[in-house]
Amino acid sequence: MRAWPAPDLPALPRTGAAAPVLVHDSTTRTLTEAAPGPTATLYACGITPYDATHLGHANTYLTFDLLQRAWLDAGKRVTYTSNVTDVDDPLLERATATGVDWRELALEQTELYRTDMTALRMLPPATWTGAVESIPAVVDAVTAMLDAGAAYWVDRDVYADLSADPAFGTVAGLDAATMRALFAERGGDPDRSGKRHPLDPALWRGEQPGDPSWDGGVLGAGRPGWHIECAVIARDGLGLPFDVQGGGADLLFPHHEMSTSHARMLSRPSGAGARVHLHAGLLAYQGEKMSKSRGNLVFVSRLLADGVDPMVIRLALLGHHYRDEWEWTDAELHTAQRRLDAWTAGLLTAHDDGEPAARVLDEVRAALAADLDAPRALASVDRWAANPGGSADVLAATVDALLGVEL
Ligand code: ZN
Repeated sequence: MRAWPAPDLPALPRTGAAAPVLVHDSTTRTLTEAAPGPTATLYACGITPYDATHLGHANTYLTFDLLQRAWLDAGKRVTYTSNVTDVDDPLLERATATGVDWRELALEQTELYRTDMTALRMLPPATWTGAVESIPAVVDAVTAMLDAGAAYWVDRDVYADLSADPAFGTVAGLDAATMRALFAERGGDPDRSGKRHPLDPALWRGEQPGDPSWDGGVLGAGRPGWHIECAVIARDGLGLPFDVQGGGADLLFPHHEMSTSHARMLSRPSGAGARVHLHAGLLAYQGEKMSKSRGNLVFVSRLLADGVDPMVIRLALLGHHYRDEWEWTDAELHTAQRRLDAWTAGLLTAHDDGEPAARVLDEVRAALAADLDAPRALASVDRWAANPGGSADVLAATVDALLGVEL
């Protein structure tokens, strides 16, 4: 798919070596260097194109945007791959419920997402692949898993045999009962008869009457499962293993557990998927988790249509640590607008005796390297804005390149 245009990224002055960028790995539950080498590879699980782009999405992709900005500033060569799950059960269900062709719904919502990401100045992926585009590669991967004994047939569907992967379960580290409950809650089919194990996920769904399907070669007509889609797109965009796989906190299980297992199967004998798993906290609104099923979504496009500056939306989200679970209120926009106004005013009133902009640059860099601590970075710029000094150009370049906020 065609991604959106990249925002300009000003170069920042540097003296001395960059600090390693540490993030919270959901597997080890410790701070870990996200990409220890000179290159950095990131896969962020993309949207299913309906109900795009709500603030929960924006908050998640902002997390990975910050990570890339920190990596780029540290001099790493960054490769970012993402996907769009442009055929899947929830999309088809929404299309049927609203009487819209599923292709039109996917196209319209993908375009909306692209527009929102551009307005929010998110760095675009180098490879942005739709599920439909990935089908030939998924067919090859599923066929290879069948040949290797890592998959099996149930009627006309193909399932992964998780017993072929001794490392299954190590990503999320959950007990059997929790895994089964989350699998059922989040799109899995633990009770399907004929499966070897309740948790085995579908890799290929045979053609169903009324559903779209594609030629699967020896798999027969059908469509791909979700977890294998991400494993294949990540492999083809980044190679295996890669540094970071990320998404919203509700993707840890089963999605990242399963897609990492599939990646291991596809890269045997070395057998490795993502090194680090990174998850953004979920937002609440009106007292409940913001979710499609509850319908309590706040859309970026709605805020933009109401005249909210996209930099205000960005600052409102940056005001909370990416791992926090917090509740969105309209007050967030007022706080962020005041902050943006103060920073902009600071550029005009910077004077020789004020807080040096170069110190802000050091502090923002240090805050991002410490688990993408955006609130700490904002506090540093706030202090500067209260007594602005040094080079206004350095300050503007700092918040642009590292925080993506254009003043
Ligand atoms: Zn994914």
